[in-house]
Amino acid sequence: MAHLNKCLAILILSLLISSCNRNELALDSQDKIDLLIKNINLFPDPETSVVNNASIAIKDGKITAILDVGSEEPEAQKVIDAQGAYASAGFWNCHVHLTEPQWQGADTIQVEKLQESLDKMFNQYGFTSVLDLGSNIKNTLVIKRRIETGELKGPRILSAGSGFTAEGASPSYIEEQLPQITSISDAKNKVKTEISAGAQHIKLYVGTFIDQSLVMVIPEDIAKAAVEESHNQNCLVSSHPHSLEGLVTSVNAGVDFLAHSVPDAGDLSDEILENMISKDVKLIPTLKLHRIAYTGVGLPEVAIDNLEEIAIRQVEDFKSRDGKICFGTDTGFISDYNPAEEFVLMEKANLSAHDILKSLTTEPEELLGDINVSGTVHVGKEANLVLLEKDPRQGAEHFSEVSYTIRKGEVIYEKK
Ligand SMILES: [Zn+2]
Repeated sequence: MAHLNKCLAILILSLLISSCNRNELALDSQDKIDLLIKNINLFPDPETSVVNNASIAIKDGKITAILDVGSEEPEAQKVIDAQGAYASAGFWNCHVHLTEPQWQGADTIQVEKLQESLDKMFNQYGFTSVLDLGSNIKNTLVIKRRIETGELKGPRILSAGSGFTAEGASPSYIEEQLPQITSISDAKNKVKTEISAGAQHIKLYVGTFIDQSLVMVIPEDIAKAAVEESHNQNCLVSSHPHSLEGLVTSVNAGVDFLAHSVPDAGDLSDEILENMISKDVKLIPTLKLHRIAYTGVGLPEVAIDNLEEIAIRQVEDFKSRDGKICFGTDTGFISDYNPAEEFVLMEKANLSAHDILKSLTTEPEELLGDINVSGTVHVGKEANLVLLEKDPRQGAEHFSEVSYTIRKGEVIYEKK
């Protein structure tokens, strides 16, 4: 009996010890956070004032605490001393293309090569979410999968598939023939097929540039049918308008986004602006694009200056009526990926740092992502962050000077 009691005592003691060890281990891993970013001036969201000298604690891909200066620092696996840099939620680029040669055959491209392409185009500029407005969907879905499985570090990608044009209107500047929608039923069927192939958005080339004297436009009833089918399938629609007729048709057809400002349309009348606002059309400015595109077709410098000014005024007039603006550059169509010039032109359109930050974060997240999950820097949100070297309120170009990009708590870019 005494022997049995002794055995029982040893057993209970050893159980207690092992359970204590387990608790300690559990407590250790619970207490230690994954990443602490200290000495940061934080833009929690575009509506909230900057929090100076804050620290951001991140664990399991989420923001677990935002600490004031002087607060006790939690123990962290990794610490970034930001030394007075500025932080905001990760940026959206709502107009990109994965069509250049370096993306093709994505299933067989070596990790290092594809990583380099992602770094150059997106990671080094703080983009943690992108909307691909036209590419080979199968290829884009491969890139997306290789990012989401952790093989590559890159942004969340939403794909609009290849995009649809009017009959006989595949753009001359795109090598591949784009699919065309030729009737109401054809539009509905093709939209359905694209979405079942994995598209999460639909792109319509409502107006297509053929040459200096011709822009071909999808008839309004066909464009409308494509939009209705997309909306039935919970997909939003972006339009490439190109001309005044393309713009008016896009708005009347009920598209959600204009993928560009439209200098060819001239200054926008009150009627058009009011129609855009009442139909809740959003605008992706792509202001930097125009000079590059018009230079490409040989327009003289003075005409290009004039067209760029028109585009800037369109953005300014739309914004002055509280139109919603989502940041986008058409990167991938233009090979200069640096968005600095786009930010400067947006500033010329009278957008404040606050407005630009909104177009980069909360506005697109509300429309295309999930604002309850991401898009701001608050406790409980996904840790998608950009660290900027300088204060973007002192010059919009500072939005492009990124020192770190973090997606779901993982550093996906660090400036060397
Ligand atoms: Zn484009």
